[in-house]
Amino acid sequence: MGKAFCEHCREYVDVSLVTEKEVTEFEGMRYVYPVRYGVCQRCGGRATPDEVQAENQRSFLDAVRTENGIVSQRTIEAIPERYNIGKRPLSKVLGWGEQSYSRFIEGDIPSREYSKTISRIDRSPLAYLLILHTNTRALTDLAFRKSKEAAMRALTSTSSAAERAAAYILAKTGSSSPLGLQKELYYANGLCEAFLGRPLVSERCEAWTRGPVYPRLWETLELRSVREESMFGQEVAEAVGKTFSPEEREVLEAVISRIACYSPFALQDFTHREAPWREARTDVPDGEPSTNEISEESVRRFFHALKERYRMQKPADIGEYMQDMVKELQGSRIP
Ligand SMILES: [Zn+2]
Repeated sequence: MGKAFCEHCREYVDVSLVTEKEVTEFEGMRYVYPVRYGVCQRCGGRATPDEVQAENQRSFLDAVRTENGIVSQRTIEAIPERYNIGKRPLSKVLGWGEQSYSRFIEGDIPSREYSKTISRIDRSPLAYLLILHTNTRALTDLAFRKSKEAAMRALTSTSSAAERAAAYILAKTGSSSPLGLQKELYYANGLCEAFLGRPLVSERCEAWTRGPVYPRLWETLELRSVREESMFGQEVAEAVGKTFSPEEREVLEAVISRIACYSPFALQDFTHREAPWREARTDVPDGEPSTNEISEESVRRFFHALKERYRMQKPADIGEYMQDMVKELQGSRIP
């Protein structure tokens, strides 16, 4: 219910709101989006409140943005508040001109590249934290602290288990490569299956040529290698650690101490020899790209068997298997 001026009745009347799909042709493109209009309760004619018309206009602009791969105005507006940072400092953190973010809030449409960055930090508080830590000099200490705290709150309360686990590993190891992190998550997931009887993360895992990869995480992080020592510090590890059970933390610690010590390429070689990745690629020729899913079932079967074979009492016992894999690979390289 709302109030609007009815042209037919010549006065302000009560209206009920109805939603429908609108189609607009604009610059050679066809946009479909939801709009609402008001129906005069007295004469049944159309009478739409001004604020609803403004929403409809926004709905159209959002459709134009979505169709063209541009982030929505709502998302742009929400970020400074979510990460507790001013528009100008945010621009600087992102490495943009000081006024850029303010202009986007006022309605300027960002380029695809800028838009991609905004979407990424919207989807991933971890991505934002990484960018924030790379550009600490763009902010005063106080502004940095406030924004980091807000991002940590978002990370612990809204991020997926995959992202939180990635943050935990990054914070604890102080460095990682995108590829290594993917493998570390994969082993964390396998160990969780073996010891807790359930996966750690629910995200789809695919059998890429580079081994098991969680595409969603890969895409949001697009981790430039994180080298800066202890760039996260203990704080992030502690905050994120609390979101996992003690048993899950034990798994993550095992990954950090027994698996993160190997190079991403070694880990890739290990996974190439393991059943879950191989089974997912039975129909794919060697070296060909694939997005086939690595099934949870195959991960469970493989890691349960591994646990039996090595008589593992605790997750960290996977270290012995890792050492065997190194020996096996060295052996296979001798002609
Ligand atoms: Zn009317």
